Amino acid sequence: EQRLTAGAAAALKAIARRPDIKMHIEQEPQLYTLLQRAAARYVTGEQRPQALAVAHQLHDEGYAVSLEYIGENTVSAAACQQATAELAGVLTELGEQGIGGRVSFDLSHIGLLVDRELALAHLLQLGELAHTYGIELFISMEESAKTEAILQLYRQAVAVYPLIGITLQAHLHRTWADAAVLLTKDTRVRFVKGAYEEPDTLALSRSAELDDRYVTLFELAVQRGCRISLATHDETLIDRLRLSSWQGAASVELELLYGIRPELCVRLREQGYPVRVYLTYGQEWYLYLCHRIAEYPPNLYQALIDMVGG
Ligand code: FAD
Repeated sequence: EQRLTAGAAAALKAIARRPDIKMHIEQEPQLYTLLQRAAARYVTGEQRPQALAVAHQLHDEGYAVSLEYIGENTVSAAACQQATAELAGVLTELGEQGIGGRVSFDLSHIGLLVDRELALAHLLQLGELAHTYGIELFISMEESAKTEAILQLYRQAVAVYPLIGITLQAHLHRTWADAAVLLTKDTRVRFVKGAYEEPDTLALSRSAELDDRYVTLFELAVQRGCRISLATHDETLIDRLRLSSWQGAASVELELLYGIRPELCVRLREQGYPVRVYLTYGQEWYLYLCHRIAEYPPNLYQALIDMVGG
């Protein structure tokens, strides 16, 4: 079975978020090491230098990179400040080391759940640095309960710092209307299908209809002259997007998560497509691993193989 039911995926993500379960794992060194081995396929490491080393290597091989310091739903102001400082650090190093690229993050990692003003202040602080170093700053899209707040903060910040980009989820019914308002010349936009389980009233599940919607959003962004990242591992969809005309967009690239389909990254690159690899690092690797399994259950078999063979 290639997809979990909505309930099963939500349950796995909820387990991943439970601090008591995480604590048990941390207290069991053998289990911790095994899980870490499985996560190593998708996460570059716990620390920034490990992510930067991989970023350098990929940059030298001709890929663009995105970097994410993993984290979400942070509920203390101090932890949000720490996350912002880490993102500022990685942004600065990407700029100073000449790798360029993009820093990606969840607004709920830097304050959205604590206080919107705090999130905005952190976002503007990062926007200023991004502007200084010419590095793109990309806001991820979270579950639908946060969409409105995320788009509002994005609008406020991008008006000051145009290097800020936004992720839009094709599965949400509201996205077409959002895109129609937000997308203008040179808007930096990343299209994803959507990773969160949402009710039918708010979103489409994986289907041909969702793929059609993704293509239509892409075409709108092309018409508007945007800078577009097509973030998907779906080869059939990528084939359709290739057929669409890229003429008119300010730029178009494919963006894939590190470790998910490395062979596809190579193939696309060899075919001459601009490819960006999305790298992650941080202590929250366990959460990230569970997300990747929830979104594509065959990754569980891969995780077991990595644990045993690693
Ligand atoms: P699907 O339609 O899910 O699957 C199609 C095929 O792709 C599968 O049959 C399989 O062959 C392959 N595939 C898909 N996923 C995997 C996997 N995990 N492992 C192995 N093969 C796989 N979602 C958000 O909601 N908000 C975000 O901000 C966000 N940012 C993202 C940034 C990037 C760069 C990427 C690549 C994804 C991001 N996502 C985000 C996740 C996205 O919404 C999807 O959940 C995820 O990409 C899976 O959907 P898909 O389009 O890749 O393929």
